[in-house]
This record gives sequence, structure tokens and C-alpha cells, in this order.
Amino acid sequence: MQRPGINPEHAEMSDFLCDFCRQEWTAAIPMVEGHRGSLICASCLTIAYTDVFLLNLDAAPAPATATSTCTLCLQDISTPSWKSPDHACFICKKCINHAASVLAKDPDFNWKKPSPAK
Ligand SMILES: [Zn+2]
Ligand SMILES: [Zn+2]
Repeated sequence: MQRPGINPEHAEMSDFLCDFCRQEWTAAIPMVEGHRGSLICASCLTIAYTDVFLLNLDAAPAPATATSTCTLCLQDISTPSWKSPDHACFICKKCINHAASVLAKDPDFNWKKPSPAK
């Protein structure tokens, strides 16, 4: 996401924030972009990947409650998902997997998909 109230014509890197933890984008922290300027940083992605793929946790509310929309792909969540602990933002399993693949291939960062604890 962009920092609220900035001039998009003169947006700087630090005006872009992770939607899930509101961490500023810096050269040291890789981020993966979703639709409409949504962003997830590597640390949120690590937690999301661990929760959903390794621990099989599912943050999606029961179908009886309002549906949640994935912040990155803007689709209604029908698969297991991860919710930001601090904000009402969800990321679906598909987007976690996609973002993790993008990040793992980025040669500038030594990010790897979390693996199960041994
Ligand atoms: Zn984050
Ligand atoms: Zn998604």
C-alpha cells in the first residue's frame, strides 16, 4: 500500500508500506506486489508461509461470517489464508505460494521458503 496522503507523483520507496505490518519498503527488505499496489514484505510472508503451509493454520472466518478478500489478488478467500495480526488484511494460500516463489527466485535477496523445523 502507499502511505496515506502522499503525492503519488513523487512517491519514494519509503512511501510504500507492507499492507500487513505497515513496514516501510527499504532496499534491505524485499516486498512482493499484488493488485492495486498492495505489498507484502518478506517477514510477513515468512510468517504467512509458515502458518499456512507448515502449520496448516487457517485464518479465514467461518463461511457464516462476512467473506474476506485477499489483499493481494482481491478475490474472495476460499482456501486457507493468513491474517495480519495487526490489521484486517488477508492473504490467500495461492498468493502466499506465488509471492514465496517470486521472492525465492530474486537473486538480490537470500530469501528461502521456510522449511519445517527439524
Ligand atoms: Zn510486512
Ligand atoms: Zn490471493
